[in-house]
Amino acid sequence: MRSGLKMFFAAAIVWSVFSSPGYAAAVKQEKHVPEDLSVKKAEGMNRDFIKGADVSSVIALENSGVTFYNTSGKRQDIFTTLKQAGVNYVRVRIWNNPYDSSGNGYGGGNNDVQKAIEIGKRATANGMKVLADFHYSDFWADPAKQKVPKAWANLSFEAKKARLYEFTKQSLQRMIEEGVNIGMVQVGNETTGAFAGETDWTKMSQLFNEGSRAVRETNRGILVALHFTNPETAGRYSFIAETLSKNKVDYDVFASSYYPFWHGTLQNLTSVLKAVADTYGKKVMVAETSYTYTAEDGDGHENTAPKSGQTLPYPISVQGQANAIRDVMQAVANTGTAGLGVFYWEPAWIPVGPKTRVEKNKVLWETYGSGWASSYAAEYDPEDAGKWYGGSAVDNQALFDCNGHPLPSLQVFQYVQSGHITKKR
Ligand code: CA
Repeated sequence: MRSGLKMFFAAAIVWSVFSSPGYAAAVKQEKHVPEDLSVKKAEGMNRDFIKGADVSSVIALENSGVTFYNTSGKRQDIFTTLKQAGVNYVRVRIWNNPYDSSGNGYGGGNNDVQKAIEIGKRATANGMKVLADFHYSDFWADPAKQKVPKAWANLSFEAKKARLYEFTKQSLQRMIEEGVNIGMVQVGNETTGAFAGETDWTKMSQLFNEGSRAVRETNRGILVALHFTNPETAGRYSFIAETLSKNKVDYDVFASSYYPFWHGTLQNLTSVLKAVADTYGKKVMVAETSYTYTAEDGDGHENTAPKSGQTLPYPISVQGQANAIRDVMQAVANTGTAGLGVFYWEPAWIPVGPKTRVEKNKVLWETYGSGWASSYAAEYDPEDAGKWYGGSAVDNQALFDCNGHPLPSLQVFQYVQSGHITKKR
């Protein structure tokens, strides 16, 4: 997910002067949440097709007082709820050091290796595999920014290669020693045109290989994934895959982000991923996707979609959201046996409080890192986080409602296996 997206905050200040009749009451008034939905079976999925979820922000949310429930309305560990809904893989992002010199977190879950261990252990305890998503940055890495970690800033290129290798190997060893069942490692996040501060593909390729080597030496059974964006740009993925091949980069999985409001058609996604799979013998997957179930913002921090200029190809509803997820799974399955699966991005990043109480939310975001960025990130990312820090930009793309109850669309991960018809008429 591109993190910045220029969050505009002025409106939130206006909202904060109004009192709220109660958050639960406000949510109950929503009319667009059906009790059940229909999902068409996805055809041709591999037996172990990945139905994944990235819940990297969940510990920061829990620390902020957020509670998650099961489908019966009882409090339950969200990892158990995900597993019961058919999720079989959990993705977690890892930043090297998302803290300032005083120990204040940059936000976005403050996801360092320790957080990944906590999340990974809970996923493993609930029978799900883990994808460790190394950004090799101290904060968000995406197509707009691939800033090298603070501690690596003044290193020579050769020294940076060594540090990337060591950090990957040591982090993985720590996670494995703690009992995390790592099935896949991402060497970089959305490294479409830059990686760990480098923009030259020869250097980027060498850095990819250092991360890959660390994974291979740790466990030959762990898949190595590289992750790119913007499949809709003509020729982009064929150029990247050809460059990786020429530079002899050792990897298993060519992964793409796919947000329907940014990244073109599903037919194109299938086509460009299948070309990489067929030409270079790689597995392919969608490492991030999401869709809106409501146009409403939940927490006083503007969401990434819907926005003017975007095309949203499904209804903005719980059923529309389920259809969007199901169709991305079908698009990956349509690449053939190379199609590994799909990860949904941050289905649990719900509000820490209602948008009518945004001033209280701001305190929680700053204290626990439960928003996309805190003010403390300004020292590392002054142009984006420093200006637009705040809350969740995807609470309307969650698979839980604003009070932590699963939306019916969460069940798409199990429904897609054999299809599901609503009992409600
Ligand atoms: Ca929001």
